Amino acid sequence: MSIKLYNTLTRQKEDFKPIHKGKAGIYACGPTVYWFAHIGNLRSFVFADVLRRTLTHSGLDVKFVMNITDVGHLTDDASDGEDKMIVAMKREGKTAYEIAEFYTQAFMKDIDRLNILSADEYPRATDHIQEQIDMVSSLEKNGYTYQTSDGVYFDTSKLKDYGRLSGQLAEEKKAGARIDMGEKKNSTDFALWKFSPDGVQRDMEWESPWGVGFPGWHIECSAMSVKYLDAPFDIHTGGIDHIAVHHENELAQTQGALDALQANVWMHGEFLTVDGGRMGKSLGNLFTVDDLIEKGFDPIDFRYLVLGAHYRTQLNFTFEALTAAQNALNRLRETVRAWEAPGGDIKEFEDRFNAALADDLNTPQALAVMWEMVDSDHSTSAKAKSLLRFDEVLGLGMDLYVAVPLEVPENVRVLVSEREQARIDKDWGLSDALRIKIAEVGYLVEDTDSGSVVKQK
Ligand code: AMP
Ligand code: ZN
Repeated sequence: MSIKLYNTLTRQKEDFKPIHKGKAGIYACGPTVYWFAHIGNLRSFVFADVLRRTLTHSGLDVKFVMNITDVGHLTDDASDGEDKMIVAMKREGKTAYEIAEFYTQAFMKDIDRLNILSADEYPRATDHIQEQIDMVSSLEKNGYTYQTSDGVYFDTSKLKDYGRLSGQLAEEKKAGARIDMGEKKNSTDFALWKFSPDGVQRDMEWESPWGVGFPGWHIECSAMSVKYLDAPFDIHTGGIDHIAVHHENELAQTQGALDALQANVWMHGEFLTVDGGRMGKSLGNLFTVDDLIEKGFDPIDFRYLVLGAHYRTQLNFTFEALTAAQNALNRLRETVRAWEAPGGDIKEFEDRFNAALADDLNTPQALAVMWEMVDSDHSTSAKAKSLLRFDEVLGLGMDLYVAVPLEVPENVRVLVSEREQARIDKDWGLSDALRIKIAEVGYLVEDTDSGSVVKQK
């Protein structure tokens, strides 16, 4: 079955045609590691993971590369732009390398907790300074650069179709821009290499043919993506905020340096909003995985919530919505614990599930098919087999639950039988106290006609 993906570059859904038969190369713009990833960032990484898993599930041999932006870059090219890495160093009293290492490890832990599969490569910007310098040199040789007092810039007026990704021509952007251009020739021009300011000793700075400094923000992704994947490679992903600047500039750099289209398909995940608005540390509504865990959620509840929205629609995060996701996931887990071991499968549902994903990764539809299958009258062993196949893409960790009856620990079983005795004795006070005790160790006890049923909270 052919897989259709929406390509930002062509503004349409296209049949995905791998460049190399049977293979697919994906480059996902990764995290900037000066703080914890927030749940908005993580939504975009879940999207890239679903893409990767869908292609793998369809039989392709996928190479998935995600960069780690561990070099400080300015929030914009203006000389007074803030360097977020330096802000973090001051906040935490650490070196830039210590900050980057700490938050890289924190990121790895987060993606593991969200069942996001590890990338085949995690190139770090600081390990690829030479590749970046080489690319800037090629751009210089090909006539796309000029130098100002603070760095080497890409001259966007030199590239014939600059702006093709965002569909905004350089001229239009210029007309709409009211920013301080400094010494830049065009408002869309951007830094390829920045000089370290005089008298400032940076933790991260390197020698270059143009002077001591550090790379601009966009060059790392052009240089590293073509190092680990061919140019062009198949698919480049990121959040929608990357379209207009970061990806536009990556595409321009690769075109200018190598005369090649960087990637055939450019895919962008819509934003996660919180309570209907923007997320921000200053707004107090910026949550991390640890925040969700602290509030009693499993990180997979969040993954389930994300899968419930198509990646190209905005998703508004609320704790009510997360609770609904938690309830749905708990019902799924409880249901499948009672199933027989996997055997056989249900082709009708598998076909519909695959068709949903093949339609530009329609995960809400895929989840609907999954539930229809779960609630169907087929044998539980066939349902188990199909569910585990679905979970290769959904990544809900169902292998831990399918046909795995809940093992209630001895101490909980003792409390439950004490509570049953209390109920026989009509000692409701003791019965309630025991229910609370059982809840404290993570279990729920429900009273049914046939006695107490114990569930995991
Ligand atoms: P950063 O660490 O800032 O480079 O961002 C990592 C990824 O998260 C990028 O692909 C961004 O486009 C994406 N991103 C940032 N904010 C949000 C958000 N609120 N919702 C979804 N994705 C986001
Ligand atoms: Zn990037």
